[in-house]
Amino acid sequence: MMAQYLEVKHQHPDCLLFYRMGDFYELFFDDARQAAAALDITLTRRGQHKGEEIPMAGVPVHAAEAYLSRLIREGFKVAICEQMEDPATAKKRGGHKALVKREVVRLVTPGTLTEDELLDARRHNYLTAVAEVGGTLGLAWVDVSTGDLQAQPADADGLPAALARLNPGELLVSERLLARAEIKDALKPWQALLTPLPGSRFDSQNARKRLEEAFEVQALEAFGAFTRAETAAAGALVDYVALTQKGALPYLRPPRRLAQGAVMEIDQATRRNLELTHALSGGRQGTLLATIDRTVTGPGARLLAQRLSAPLTDTAEIARRLDGVQALSTDETTRDELRQRLKHTPDVERALSRLTVGRGGPRDLAALRDGLGQAAGLRGVLAQAFERAADGVAAAPELLTRAAEELGDHGALTDRLSQALAPDLPTLARDGGVIAEGFAPELDEQRRLRDESRRLIANLQATYQQQTGVHALKIRHNQVLGYYVEVTPRQAEQLPADGPLIHRQTLASAVRYTTTELADLEQRIAKAGDRALAIEQQLFQELVASATAQAREIDRAARALAEIDVASALAELAAEQRWTRPKVTDDTRFAVAQGRHPVVEAALKKEDEGPFVANDCDLSDDSRLWLVTGPNMAGKSTFLRQNALIAVLAQMGSFVPAERAELGVVDRLFSRVGAADDLARGRSTFMVEMVEAAAILNQAGPRALVILDEIGRGTATFDGLSLAWACVEHLHDMNRCRGLFATHYHELTSLQGRLSALACHTMRVKEWQGEVVFLHAVAPGAADRSYGIHVARLAGLPDAAIRRAEEVLETLEKGEQAGTLQRLADDLPLFAAMAEKPQPEKAEAQGPSAMETRLAAVNPDELTPKQALELLYELRGLA
Ligand code: ADP
Repeated sequence: MMAQYLEVKHQHPDCLLFYRMGDFYELFFDDARQAAAALDITLTRRGQHKGEEIPMAGVPVHAAEAYLSRLIREGFKVAICEQMEDPATAKKRGGHKALVKREVVRLVTPGTLTEDELLDARRHNYLTAVAEVGGTLGLAWVDVSTGDLQAQPADADGLPAALARLNPGELLVSERLLARAEIKDALKPWQALLTPLPGSRFDSQNARKRLEEAFEVQALEAFGAFTRAETAAAGALVDYVALTQKGALPYLRPPRRLAQGAVMEIDQATRRNLELTHALSGGRQGTLLATIDRTVTGPGARLLAQRLSAPLTDTAEIARRLDGVQALSTDETTRDELRQRLKHTPDVERALSRLTVGRGGPRDLAALRDGLGQAAGLRGVLAQAFERAADGVAAAPELLTRAAEELGDHGALTDRLSQALAPDLPTLARDGGVIAEGFAPELDEQRRLRDESRRLIANLQATYQQQTGVHALKIRHNQVLGYYVEVTPRQAEQLPADGPLIHRQTLASAVRYTTTELADLEQRIAKAGDRALAIEQQLFQELVASATAQAREIDRAARALAEIDVASALAELAAEQRWTRPKVTDDTRFAVAQGRHPVVEAALKKEDEGPFVANDCDLSDDSRLWLVTGPNMAGKSTFLRQNALIAVLAQMGSFVPAERAELGVVDRLFSRVGAADDLARGRSTFMVEMVEAAAILNQAGPRALVILDEIGRGTATFDGLSLAWACVEHLHDMNRCRGLFATHYHELTSLQGRLSALACHTMRVKEWQGEVVFLHAVAPGAADRSYGIHVARLAGLPDAAIRRAEEVLETLEKGEQAGTLQRLADDLPLFAAMAEKPQPEKAEAQGPSAMETRLAAVNPDELTPKQALELLYELRGLA
């Protein structure tokens, strides 16, 4: 057996091997040690190998999924090795010592899961692949549990943002590509999810063939103009899925291609900072997603999360989504009816995927029956709504008419499933009890035979009681003896010697007998039971086949269900929160009237902390860049973020928390918060902050939206001020993008005169009865800097200290400081100073230093943030 084990293990060195032995999966050697530690189960020993004891751990088969899910979450891969024959068969074949045939039936990896127990119902789980062909990169991803397969072009710079959007569960990459420094860097945040594969698996020719076969088309072009790199990536995915499922390919949707620039690019830092789908504190609570999610189905929740992660840039497509939301937000009756039905709609996508991969159970068929049944109902509701709309001469939105069409007509299948499936379904088909009474006469006949024999057995008890005169005699059943007659030892003494009973077993408390009649009936029951089970299996397989034969239509309906769920959920949200439809345009306007921060507003409401104060934000051409000042806690961050969130919401096709919003499409969104002064982490935090700021200044184009919150805060005042100053100038003059810049460096407001599109705003604060009151209202102008001192007084700083602070402030404001700064603003912008070349006389007189030579050779525009950081260290070495 160990030889067999080692051979199987040898083929799956990177997986823990679950080796089936009867009712357990056993793990040996190092696998056992790792699993025991990860699962907190006992590590024992079994036999010896090369003179050493073999460590062993085991998990019961019936509870395997719970253990699997823990191992997968901890990043393990697991190979499931099953017994492929009955031990009895093996014995017949090769005598007592014969080995049961075993085979690995499946590899369980984080990116290829299909079981509900192993998956989050409300999030996609993407298996992702990066490939390179002829110098270009391609990215492809598939959710094996729903069959969604897509690809897009990529480059080393854009890769991190694309991966941040997908948030993959597992990432396939060729060993060769991983050897390249810039790719390795780009993939660093996903290190734990990497599955390196040999380069041969990313061959674009083979990939093309594989895909054309899998989708049964002559040419892959039928689905779009995939680059060779994208094809290679998609092919590697399909290949890997087949490998892990041991050849069985789940249902896959025809691949789609996401063109360059089709979605708003949002890098990982921005996603984290804006808490779009994951909260800074971990988890889902407090995220934009959790705040806006009103979906009632798993597939709807997944689609909403996907849309929020990937806001569109195509205004026509955005408008199409908004039309759907608008129609349902005004038609409350239809919306309620749809949502009521959706609530009772199971996850058809995942049920279908399991059925097609051969892992579906009776309840998955029931999910199709119920889901497709509700789909028919939804179609009815929509048809009525369309009629009413036509009466009122309103056009039904295309999104809904198309969804209604795609729901399709699955009456034949749902009728058949309704007739076939028993009311209470077991989890596994092999347990029987799947097929309803009255569906298959032959099955009913076998069940009747079985039940009749059971009845006869029950009758026998009375007969034997009479014949023997022992009225306490019982007929019982267990696994070992089957049916038997049982009496107490004392009663056994009274039994007539010539009765029908044949002695089988004597225990302390009972004596057991069998009879020829019982044995006969038992055999009949077993035979009928076996026969019934075989018929059930057969019928179940037929039902699965008839369902999966229509996989494409069922999937189309499933997607339409998700689409309707998302549209009606966003409509519900819009109606409930009184959000409005944004106007998304192709220019670069940005005008939000009375905007709110949805998450902060919800939190205030929950805590009953008073109303949220709405604020305008207009980043039109002559005020592209807003400088927002104000004391701590005045609401600067909230204001900045709410405008970024409004852009995300609008472009994902949602209404927005504002009275009015007109937004030119944002192609890239950046958001950064300055690191708080942190002595313990000191420079390194500041370095991170600067590396991130560098990324923005290097990348943001005219259609970007940039949110910078207290940049420069992580260092000494003059450093910080200078850097913030330079950032503002760079954003204004070079990036020329829309932006919001919050700062407590009031000195920056002196830039207003010189930078034509810079507008200064401040958070209004009022003093009332000796207290500072934050009004949370944004107003033109600059903050009165003395509020810091007011706040300090409120906080209980001693009077003497307060008075001294006022003195210092006064001196600073009047004195050298202010004058110097003003001059700096007027005639020597820091930015220009930085761009200036070294003075030639000086250079000639002393000759360029090593540092100067090195610097002169640098082209800052071509540096990645990482390279910039490395350069900095190098320069420090030269100093
Ligand atoms: P800052 O960035 O200026 O330090 P924040 O944006 O973090 O301030 O806001 C501090 C707190 O003030 C928030 O947690 C919230 O409770 C409250 N707040 C902010 N903006 C508003 C608003 N517009 N209306 C009501 N309360 C607000």
